[in-house]
Amino acid sequence: MNNPEYDKPMPPLNRDSKPFWDSMKEHNMRLQRCAECGKIRHYPRPVCDNCLSMEYDWVRATGKGKVHSWTISHHAFLPGFIADLPMTLVTVDLDEGVRICAQMRDCEPERLSVNLPVELGYEDATSDLTLPVFRPA
Ligand SMILES: [Zn+2]
Repeated sequence: MNNPEYDKPMPPLNRDSKPFWDSMKEHNMRLQRCAECGKIRHYPRPVCDNCLSMEYDWVRATGKGKVHSWTISHHAFLPGFIADLPMTLVTVDLDEGVRICAQMRDCEPERLSVNLPVELGYEDATSDLTLPVFRPA
């Protein structure tokens, strides 16, 4: 997934995470679900933390959730993020019961609040990488 035109860190791509990033590339986020107990988990990993099963499948995410927390970054720790500043990062509780961190779009800082309803969006960072973003619902 290395791309010399993209100067931000790339997410790890491995056997566990590849189906997630493939679903992002398709603009159709899927989440990992334990095939034994049905618990949905994110980030993708090989073992269920509820029943220790190593069997899983993938389910389509609704893309709907609520803000759990956020921060507004005014400093870029890596040069690739300078153009994004100030950058709002949100932690979102998805309706599926998992948390995900992404950048927030189209939302003035004073509008942010805990439990603000948000919707998932997709941004193609490279031809191989699509990142999640959120917007107010
Ligand atoms: Zn399980």
